[in-house]
Amino acid sequence: MFSYRHAFHAGNHADVLKHTVLIATLEHLLEKEAALTVVDTHAGAGLYRLDGDYAGTSGEAAEGVLRLLSEPKDAKAAPLPDALARYLDVIRDFNPKGGARIYPGSPFITHHLLREHDKLKLFELHPTDARTLDANIAQLEAGRQIAVLREDGFGSATKFLPPPSRRALVLCDPSYEIKSDYARVLDFVSAALKRFATGTYAVWYPIIPRPEAHDLPRRLKTLATKAGKSWLHATLTVKSSKIVTDASGATHRPGLPASGMFLINPPYTLKALLEPALPQMVQRLGQDRHAASSLESGG
Ligand code: SAM
Repeated sequence: MFSYRHAFHAGNHADVLKHTVLIATLEHLLEKEAALTVVDTHAGAGLYRLDGDYAGTSGEAAEGVLRLLSEPKDAKAAPLPDALARYLDVIRDFNPKGGARIYPGSPFITHHLLREHDKLKLFELHPTDARTLDANIAQLEAGRQIAVLREDGFGSATKFLPPPSRRALVLCDPSYEIKSDYARVLDFVSAALKRFATGTYAVWYPIIPRPEAHDLPRRLKTLATKAGKSWLHATLTVKSSKIVTDASGATHRPGLPASGMFLINPPYTLKALLEPALPQMVQRLGQDRHAASSLESGG
């Protein structure tokens, strides 16, 4: 456990999907004046350097956010769909000199959008990332608006539900390093929904050849439907998941080919925002003929 470090993956296609959905969801929830509490059960380090050693090792951002930012402006091209444009606006806010040297993780994206009376609860267990997160958050001088907890996000995040204003977004974004994470996500969302049925829940998951990964959205859908709650499921595939064998007989794993976001009680505006944004992600980030997206909702 704990070999996963988000710094290797920051700004990849999965972050593009996750953070586009996060921003669109937050901006809708922030239209109401009443305080919002955001609970980030797996926060990561908060901020990442895309020109640093970690990001350079995998180059994942080059096939994600950097590809989106480096596209030449074509006067004749159709404008980017709102959700994707807003995502890139937020990334640019962290990089006022251009490019994307800094990539904000979910805690910083969220804090950037929150108002002073909103609250942010961050859970991170990795000792190094928790220390980095603490130090990054301290720079914001946000006082009691932000709490950083070195606790198990699955085990104790429900203690903040429901918040006093009874308005919350819960982002559940584990690393799925261990198989049991899939079942823990389901147990966590189920327990959280029992405590706070009207909260908005957003779960990110990898789409990989593993039965648990395929079962998770199906089981979340069943959970939402049984609870009488609305749901939305968005996926982005950028390449085939097939293992490739080269001329020398060596096999190459393709890296993460696809991921999904499953929301319970999503904003009613979200589907219309993602409808044009997802095909644009496919067009701009797709790496082979398997690139695709899907969007469904119910309840
Ligand atoms: N949400 C972040 C973002 O979008 O920028 C990325 C989070 S990363 C995918 C998952 C994080 O969860 C890792 O930093 C990992 O150390 C942490 N983690 C793993 N198990 C955890 C647990 N049980 N509770 C809290 N954090 C955990």
